[in-house]
Amino acid sequence: MTILITGGAGFIGGHTVLAFLDRGEIPIVLDDLSTGNRAAVPSGVPFFVGDVGDAELVLRLVQNHRIDAILHFAAKIVVPESVADPLNYYHNNTVKTHTLLQAAVRGNVKHFVFSSTAAVYGNPSFTPVSETAAPAPLSPYGRSKLMSEYMLVDARAAYNLRYVTLRYFNVAGADPAGRLGQSTPGATHLIKVALETALRRRSYMSIYGSDYPTPDGTCVRDYVHVSDLARAHLAALDHLRDGGESRTLNCGYGRGYSVREVVDAVRRVARVDFEIRQAPRRAGDPASIVANSDQLMKLGWKPELNDLPKMIEHAHNWEKKLTAGASGIGIHQRGHSVSVHRTMPSRTSRLHVQAGPATARTKVLRIHRVDRTKEKLDWIAIQLSGKFSIGPGMFSFALGVHLSKSNGTAA
Ligand code: UDP
Repeated sequence: MTILITGGAGFIGGHTVLAFLDRGEIPIVLDDLSTGNRAAVPSGVPFFVGDVGDAELVLRLVQNHRIDAILHFAAKIVVPESVADPLNYYHNNTVKTHTLLQAAVRGNVKHFVFSSTAAVYGNPSFTPVSETAAPAPLSPYGRSKLMSEYMLVDARAAYNLRYVTLRYFNVAGADPAGRLGQSTPGATHLIKVALETALRRRSYMSIYGSDYPTPDGTCVRDYVHVSDLARAHLAALDHLRDGGESRTLNCGYGRGYSVREVVDAVRRVARVDFEIRQAPRRAGDPASIVANSDQLMKLGWKPELNDLPKMIEHAHNWEKKLTAGASGIGIHQRGHSVSVHRTMPSRTSRLHVQAGPATARTKVLRIHRVDRTKEKLDWIAIQLSGKFSIGPGMFSFALGVHLSKSNGTAA
């Protein structure tokens, strides 16, 4: 019997694939690569590029591979994006989950582990919040997930499909052994954004809202290490395999950090200062949300990486790898020359290197043609600044890089 992991090329799905491999189980992966990265999944793991909304494909996979358990990660997960484009979120997260569930029932799948979110709680009246709190999501993202939770409850009652719904709090960190991390281009999550700023891939970052009813006025979140979260999926599946009943469980550590505390921790771990700008509140953000995860622990889950600086350090190591060009965009400096490249298997595009005002004396020696993935960003801007020693004097430079679309319309 085999496990199907949807979204296994993504951040959390990818770490869960590793957790299964670490204990000697080989799942199969279905991912449409809209945000996932093929390279996240080790060779040796059967990989299918496709959409969980493709009913025929999913049923074929379930039947041909004798799937007895589905772990469903594939989803859109950005709260403000869901506010701007709710119907896309309901389609991706709710309609496609319905299609997947239908295939699971038709294919006689026994177990289903579902990636849900703390966003289903909205602004809970008690914190830490436990699973018995009434859901009241503030965003289409939260609602798109809550509707899928309801489908699972009803499917359990009607068909022979048992489930565990895991409500993730704020997922961060990276594989401690450095095999994987968050690679999605244009990621919006706090620790990723702060680390990109620390590594000068952004010139500044914004803090959204400083007038929340929290100790320092910024939002409070419960950050959980992605590798601990991956192991929560193993515990959930083991529970179902042992005949356990369907459950809905929080995944967090029960300790909240404010946005400012996280940013300060990133500064300390990365040992750099960077510019913070105060920005207005972001739509759909609850003030404070911290997990009571007692129920998950009763299932046998033991947090092993419950340490914010450690989590940031693992993510920082991964970001440095991305910067160094393991994947993503690489910037290399040798003497007084700088080269910029991106290595990813996809279509070709041009790389434009623009000198900023302080760079009049900086000569970019090589402009590579590069590959680009199909991410939907029009461009990615990188800024690099520092001081070079040239002859007897010093001067500083700043370099802006635009990775433009390959359709020839970009400047
Ligand atoms: N946040 C911020 N600046 C950023 C990204 C996030 O101030 O560049 C804040 C965001 O408004 C929220 C918290 O950090 O209060 C966590 O946001 P994130 O997007 O990481 O996760 P979410 O809680 O929305 O799932």
